[in-house]
Amino acid sequence: MSTQNPVFIPGPTNIPEVIRKACDIPTMDHRSPAFGRILAPALSGVRTVLGMSEGEVIIFPATGTAGWEGAVANTLSPGDKVLSGCHGMFSQRWIELCQRHGLDVHVINSPWSEGVPMAEFESALSADTAHAIKAVLVTHNETATGVMSDVAAVRALLNRLGHPALLMVDGVSSIGSVAFDMDGWGVDIAVTGSQKGFMLPPGLAIVGVGPKALAAMEGAKLTRGFLHFGDMIAAYRNGSYPYTPSAGLINGLNVAMQMLLDEGLENVYARHARIAEGVRQAVFAWGMTPCAARPELYSNTVTAVAVPEGFNGSDVVALAATKYGVAFGAGLGAVAGKVFRIGHLGMLTDVMALSGIATAEMCMADLGFPIKLGSGVAAAQEYYRTTAS
Ligand SMILES: *Cc1c(COP(=O)(O)O)cnc(C)c1O
Repeated sequence: MSTQNPVFIPGPTNIPEVIRKACDIPTMDHRSPAFGRILAPALSGVRTVLGMSEGEVIIFPATGTAGWEGAVANTLSPGDKVLSGCHGMFSQRWIELCQRHGLDVHVINSPWSEGVPMAEFESALSADTAHAIKAVLVTHNETATGVMSDVAAVRALLNRLGHPALLMVDGVSSIGSVAFDMDGWGVDIAVTGSQKGFMLPPGLAIVGVGPKALAAMEGAKLTRGFLHFGDMIAAYRNGSYPYTPSAGLINGLNVAMQMLLDEGLENVYARHARIAEGVRQAVFAWGMTPCAARPELYSNTVTAVAVPEGFNGSDVVALAATKYGVAFGAGLGAVAGKVFRIGHLGMLTDVMALSGIATAEMCMADLGFPIKLGSGVAAAQEYYRTTAS
């Protein structure tokens, strides 16, 4: 696999050179004021990207999965009821993690092409007059299917019903590439990681914890050791960590947040929307469709391309890797073989996207898919050429 080719997996994403270099720093004493000087702007940059004015940003030397665990372990108690839709590999894995912690998860299963099940959420929450449901879990962007859900609509539902459950959102494959508004959407906990929209190597679990979630920590009884939010908040007061931080990654995070803010968050989101639309134009030109059931569910960070009957999406992924040295995402779980995924989050340009579309097209032609070589590239070129500023 050439190290010069961009990757088209929906994480880890392409790392800009300036960020890669920023992660490579000499050994640093994390109890020294020098560490505090990189930590503070990194935390404040994350706060801006999350759209969060109150609460705390917690950064563990871990990955997004640890963020899920931290979210529930710090705020809930054994046996607590949690409501979640299951419509892809990531929503499913967060549910399973909750079950391992002894939470009572009310799971609503939907087809793996749908988003958050709003109607079923409404029935479950309105039936819960005793407010036994302590948290509602939402996977903002289901990376397995390329389905984006409307987080604000879930908050509006909770408000309309006067339901006090915490709103916990997995934004691992959305935050930093599509708009996220923790304050405006009333998100109590937002989880992300370093290696997707934040363009860094893997290694940081990044969690935004709002005031209601901080208050819930008081009575919460699930066991939390390494992932104790309270330890981190106490250490931050001294500009430090409760244990050894990934100082290089935090320095990289500081630079990554600066990059996003310099480009302008609105511009970053517009860039992802355009790139995603070009990818979808290519998919339609191939005579194929995204896995997501409806246009309002289309993700601007990953497109799961539904392959025609009799073909296997994993063959596209395998051939791209072996013959052309390019990484795409395979279908996971219930959509294994039925899709291949083109990741388009993090650092990506029109030109990079076109190379991915061209490669996918070569692989499909090699495998005898009923597509016309160049059709997807031409559709994307036309879209990018006429919408570039
Ligand atoms: C990647 C991803 C995760 C898991 O994150 P890790 O960093 O691999 O632990 C969770 N949720 C979503 C939506 C993801 O895309």
